Order: sequence, then structure tokens, then C-alpha cells
Amino acid sequence: MSQTGFSAEKVREDFPILNQEVRGRRLVYLDSAASAQKPKAVIDAISHFYLHDNANVHRGVHTLSERATSAFEGAREKVRRFLHAKDVKEIVFVRGTTEAINLVAQTFGRKNVGPGDEVLITALEHHANIVPWQMLCEQQGATLRQVPVDAHGDLVLDKLDALLTPRTRILAVTHVSNALGSVVPVKELIRRAHEKGIPVLVDGAQAVTHFPVDVQELDCDFYAFSGHKLFGPMGIGVLYGKKALLETMPPYQGGGDMILSVTLEKTIYNRVPYRFEAGTPDVAGAVGLGAAIDYLEGVGMQAIAAHDRELLAYAEQAVEGVPGVRVLGKARERSGVVSFVMEEVHPHDIGTILDREGVAVRSGHHCAQPLMQCFGVAATVRASLALYNTREDVDALVRALHKVREVFG
Ligand code: PMP
Repeated sequence: MSQTGFSAEKVREDFPILNQEVRGRRLVYLDSAASAQKPKAVIDAISHFYLHDNANVHRGVHTLSERATSAFEGAREKVRRFLHAKDVKEIVFVRGTTEAINLVAQTFGRKNVGPGDEVLITALEHHANIVPWQMLCEQQGATLRQVPVDAHGDLVLDKLDALLTPRTRILAVTHVSNALGSVVPVKELIRRAHEKGIPVLVDGAQAVTHFPVDVQELDCDFYAFSGHKLFGPMGIGVLYGKKALLETMPPYQGGGDMILSVTLEKTIYNRVPYRFEAGTPDVAGAVGLGAAIDYLEGVGMQAIAAHDRELLAYAEQAVEGVPGVRVLGKARERSGVVSFVMEEVHPHDIGTILDREGVAVRSGHHCAQPLMQCFGVAATVRASLALYNTREDVDALVRALHKVREVFG
């Protein structure tokens, strides 16, 4: 137990899935960056919704529909509070980070990016923050450019001012790299982009899980994250957008709920955020996400951040101590992830042997192939940490890595 009263051991009791054996060993789940486990409070909230309140939202006047609507809108308010957004209208429910970024690319992007313009991303991005911009640039005749990364996994910010040109229409940047754990000083990037009038989208998929995020303090224009990585359900996510900006953007998809009136000749679109939420939303998903936020706030995001820092330092040192292992990414600030390779052993073989020991990690390119190329590797093994991981988990990983060494000599 830490000074803040935080105890990962105690937290584990809230996550029933962790209490199981895999291949006859205690499950050691080190793949939360891909998808995090859910506390019982989230599972109960979803189950309560379907057992008691299920109905479609916004349209019905009957009691269940009113209850479902209030649960859905209540979840939106919880997200607003969690991100410290100014206005609940700035919170758009989407399927996840991927959909949030596609939404911005296809609405803000199509409206504001034209032939000869530029979209700036960075070498740290997940494919979800590359491909939608590539598609947009192809559609609009624009050019995709990127801020390079150095050998430590830090962005080369000396190059930033030159890359923010009069043709740059948006900067899209990750807050934390999913492949290396680099924490990007997004506040500084946002300030420098804003000096030139360029809006910024931040991919927060790997950030919101590890430390408090305040969109007003960052002054970002858009912020995206996924519920399933935030200990909530799959299929729900969030796009935060500054209200004044969202109001200038055309709809993303057409359908029910995003309209005020429809005739064959003309549709008047609904207000934000509903304009961007065509069709029946994932109401139970939003309710589950709201419960995840309540849970995390109950534990305390500051305590979670302190645990992450302490355990990551322990894990990096422990993994580096295994013969033949090289940890990739030594950015100035890191969060949540130890990414490594082992001499003469393919990451997939490592992943398979670790699984036999009950240790779940991810091996591959982590949907960040351009970044892997920068580091001259095709793949790495990634152990990712969450609030329920302990030193015992890290020790189990290290023991299993020694077994890999034995197998491969
Ligand atoms: N961005 C980052 C940094 C990610 O780690 C991920 C998920 N691995 C995504 C975007 C995409 O998230 P999702 O698949 O939930 O849309």
C-alpha cells in the first residue's frame, strides 16, 4: 500500500477476470495497452442497464426511454468531467479512437484541407492516426508530413516550426506512443501550432488510462480515446472537440438522431454533439464507460499515475537485466509500456513461450509500422502495465523471459 492508500493488490480484487489460471499458471495480464480488463463495477453497470433500463434514447416518452436517455446523457457528463471539458456538448460518443479520428478527418478535414495543403502527424503514430489522414490527403490532393523521432523515441521538436507551414491545416499527434510509451509534450506542440493558427488533434488512447488529462489546460482542439482501453466496454469511445469548432463541421454520417427536420429536398442538421451521432448509439457502452470513469476517479488518477511511474521503472530495469534483451524507447518521459527485442529470438516466439507461462504480452508491429521502421525492427514484444499490475507480475514476466533464453540458448 502506498502513501496515497493505493494498493494494486486491492485493486485486483475488483477485476474478477484476473483471478484465473492460464495453462496451469496464475494469469499475468500485461496487454492492457491493447485492451484493458474491466472492473466488476463496469460489468454490473452494463448488466443493470440491460436488466432494468434498456430502451432507445432521445425518441421515446415512456419511462424506460427516459431512463436510458438520462443514463446515456449522464455518461456524457461523466466524460466531460473526466476530461475537464467546458461544455457537455463538446463530448461526441463514437466507437473508439479510430472512429473519432476518421470523423475529424472526414468532416473538419474535408472542409478545411484542399489541394496543396498539408496535414502534419508524427513518426510515433498508431495506424489509426496515420491512415485516416492519408485517405484524406489522397481525396483532397494534400500532402501528409511527419515530425521525425530520435533514437530515444522522443520527437525531434527542433524540426517542428519548419514543419508547421502556412499550408498546414491540422496537426494530429499522439499523447503517449502505444509502441514505445513515449509521452509527447503535447501542451508545447499545441502552443506552437496555435501560434500559427493551426488546430491540433491529440490521440489520447494510451494517455487517459495512466494520468489525469485536462483538455482546457492542454488547449487541444480535439482529443480522442477508446472506452475499452480505459477499463470500459468495447465499441464505445469519445471525441472531444471545442464547441466552436464542432459547430463549423458538417455531419459525419447521415441518419436518425442527427437531424432536426427532413424533407426530400433538405435536411436541417441537429445541434452538436448529436449532429455527429447518427443512428442508435451504444447506450450500454456509454453507461459502462461512465462506470469505468467513476471507478477510476474513486481510485484516483493521481494515485494511478504514481503507480504507473513506479512500476514502469521497476519493469524496465528488470527486463533489461535479462541477457540479450534490448529495451526500445528511452524517451525523456514514458508511460505504461516496456517494448523490447531479444537477440536471435523472434518476438512472436517470445509471445508464445510467455503464454505457456501464463504471461500475456503483445508481439508484433503494434499498428505502428512506420515507427518500427525508424527503429530498424519489424516487431517488438510489448509488456503494458495497468493499475492492477504488481511487481509480482513483472517478476513472473522476467522468469518467463529467462525460460525463453533457455529454450533458444
Ligand atoms: N491510437 C493509439 C495510440 C492506440 O494505442 C490505439 C489502440 N491500440 C488506437 C489509436 C486505436 O484504438 P481503437 O482500436 O480502440 O480505435
